[in-house]
Amino acid sequence: MIHQRYFISACLLGQKVRYDGKDCLVSQLVQALLDKNYVSLCPEVSAGLPTPRPAAEIRHGSGADVLLGHAQVFSSDGHQISEVFIQGAYKALALAQANHVTHAVLKANSPSCGSDGIYDGSFTGQKIVGEGITAALFRQHGIHVVTEQQFLAELTQTKLTDEPN
Ligand code: SF4
Repeated sequence: MIHQRYFISACLLGQKVRYDGKDCLVSQLVQALLDKNYVSLCPEVSAGLPTPRPAAEIRHGSGADVLLGHAQVFSSDGHQISEVFIQGAYKALALAQANHVTHAVLKANSPSCGSDGIYDGSFTGQKIVGEGITAALFRQHGIHVVTEQQFLAELTQTKLTDEPN
């Protein structure tokens, strides 16, 4: 059996790296990772973005489209900032590959880390089906990506299945 190694979005572990200067600590996730092998990083901060920073959303597509140059990331103050988001995704991938990561738990809805939905680029709170740039890059390199809620749900399901009848 291949040993599972994880990559975790830094904000989920309590690091205050979000655009608003806050974290997204999920204590249950921290507990669940105690016996697991993992590395953690914030792609956006690793690429040099400050905290706090303006919110950002992908326009006209999803993370894979940004990697292809077919969609762009914009900040809420109107700057096109795709390049730094792509750099952050590649830094995260480099860390993941150096540590033989097989699975990633990435923060839902982020333009970098979102994996089952992202905001639509209008900064009006509307979500669409899609993934962030880091999530897309990870998937392109064979890493299994889930959101924090999907990870916890899978864990609960596994425990229930493992319990004797
Ligand atoms: Fe969290 Fe990812 Fe956003 Fe960094 S880029 S704050 S790790 S969701």
